[in-house]
Amino acid sequence: MSALAPNYKRKNLSFVKGKGSFLLAKNGKKYLDFVQGIAVNSFGHANKKLINAINKQSKKLWHVSNAFIIPEGEKLAQRLVKKTFADAIIFQNSGAEATEAAIKVARRYFYSIGKENKVDIVCIKNSFHGRTLAAIHASGSKKMIQGFGPKVPGFKHFEFGNHKKLKKLINKNTAAIMIETVMGEGGIKVIPSWCIKAIKELCVKKGILLILDEVQCGIGRSGKFFAFEYAGVKPDIVPIAKGIGGGFPIGAVLMTKKVAKGMIPGSHGSTFGGNPLAMSVGNAVLDQINKKLLNNVNKMSKYFINNLNILKKKYPRIIKEVRGIGLLIGIQLHHDQTKFIKKLMNNKLLTIRAAENVIRILPPLNVKKNEIDLALKIIKKVCSELN
Ligand SMILES: *Cc1c(COP(=O)(O)O)cnc(C)c1O
Repeated sequence: MSALAPNYKRKNLSFVKGKGSFLLAKNGKKYLDFVQGIAVNSFGHANKKLINAINKQSKKLWHVSNAFIIPEGEKLAQRLVKKTFADAIIFQNSGAEATEAAIKVARRYFYSIGKENKVDIVCIKNSFHGRTLAAIHASGSKKMIQGFGPKVPGFKHFEFGNHKKLKKLINKNTAAIMIETVMGEGGIKVIPSWCIKAIKELCVKKGILLILDEVQCGIGRSGKFFAFEYAGVKPDIVPIAKGIGGGFPIGAVLMTKKVAKGMIPGSHGSTFGGNPLAMSVGNAVLDQINKKLLNNVNKMSKYFINNLNILKKKYPRIIKEVRGIGLLIGIQLHHDQTKFIKKLMNNKLLTIRAAENVIRILPPLNVKKNEIDLALKIIKKVCSELN
């Protein structure tokens, strides 16, 4: 019997070590890991530069309070500011904390300019922003909020694609629109660039803020540093997490200087957020998110998606749609995906589910062509078995 609470239905499989795209299981078998901790291990397992960074820093200093200057965090923040739309950063430890902080930054901005009525955050129904109380209410998923007490006020929802409803929801009390640029848990739904652009224009027109949740699709996974770069828009606030830590828990919220002004001393904090150990790893992750890596993401993405579409043509009764951008790929099946995922696992390919019968595929950003070929071979085999 496990002493862990039963809030996860775990597969009967555990691992002893990993290298790049592969995991070695306790049962002695080698698995191709196209989950990578859910888009977390940007460079696969046991990345040399990350190991060096954490080894080096762990001998010097792990943790000090944010009451003091932390040079490693100053450096990572400077680099993120230089690379992106942002003028200021707050470090956290996870995605949910980052989206929570994003909501706080938006509300605090309006408070600081004397418009404290502007608190409402408009979100897509059944999106995913994490599991804290505010974040589950931001998602608006019935399943996630069930049993967790009174509704957290201040969140309004529209269905994916229902722009009329979105416009109707915006009133004098609206602070921000918060959406995932690519809906990950929601079934790898890429919000089209024209749509992101139109939402940005709406925000400008209404004088509200745009929060783009890039916790899953950010830090190179989309083939650009941020997925919203495809739309050419400038958001006000962007929470990140997963990929920036490469396996070490790091979250952050990026913001413009306009909204950063509201975050005066004492307005927000985190004991662990931005500690020297985490920041050293974050810097070593950023060192490796370069043009060459993004080229690999785009090349491998094209190759993978093209070949999955060939499989879709061959097995039209099984595969309904191939979705995605960069190395955030979804295979939507006509039927429940549980059996398919299990068969992939039995053939030593690890994938993970998303909503709408989608099998989510998240290779490391430095994945090699022969690894994708191996995955395609296994997916094809399972298709033919289930056909
Ligand atoms: C995973 C995820 C989160 C939550 O991150 P945690 O680290 O699990 O708290 C928030 N938003 C999006 C888009 C995510 O994919």
